[in-house]
Amino acid sequence: MFIGHYAAALILRPVKKAPSLPVLFAAVQLMDIAFFAFVIAKTESLRITPGITAMNPLDLYFMPFSHGLAGVLIQSAVFGALVALVAGQGHRAAAGIIAGLAVFSHWVLDVVTHRPDMMLFGADEKIGAGLWNHPNAAMTVELGLIAAAFALYALLTRPKAGSGMTSLAVLAVGLALLQAINWFGPPPNPLTTPINEIALQGLAAFGVLIGLAWWVERTREPAD
Ligand SMILES: [Zn+2]
Repeated sequence: MFIGHYAAALILRPVKKAPSLPVLFAAVQLMDIAFFAFVIAKTESLRITPGITAMNPLDLYFMPFSHGLAGVLIQSAVFGALVALVAGQGHRAAAGIIAGLAVFSHWVLDVVTHRPDMMLFGADEKIGAGLWNHPNAAMTVELGLIAAAFALYALLTRPKAGSGMTSLAVLAVGLALLQAINWFGPPPNPLTTPINEIALQGLAAFGVLIGLAWWVERTREPAD
């Protein structure tokens, strides 16, 4: 799952005392940001195995820290604590809890999507319901999630600057475009595609979307 993760950020943002949209965009992808950073640092690993799932050719065979349940709980707690620390007086607890939930939402959606490659507490047993083996269902779930969350966010916020509609539209186009590349772009070649290139492309996509979320945050406010 890729853009479906942002549904959690869009749903949580209008909640009272929630952190800003770019912070939530970072939170919901923190596990994948950590994973790609660990891949570049050679702490975690992936390889390209065409057909390993019907939709995603990446064999995510070693990601105990970024995607293991123990590591995810630590990421949620640490990120939540950091957000609480920088949040304004009276917002700390709520902002921290919402940020922690946003981080954890990634794990829940990944368990549904991935093949059994997600570790629990470091034991050998791995879980994953394998939605990626059912392309039509996977695409419907991912697009349905993000579309519903987007509609809710648009309904519960309003433009506060002239570009408040434009920023939202550009975010929608950005999400759709990056997901289209992810689904329909040329698949990575197991012999020629450097693994670091996959990791860097992922990090770049997350960065672009955090930037767009920052623009939306600056130009929209709660509708009350
Ligand atoms: Zn993930």
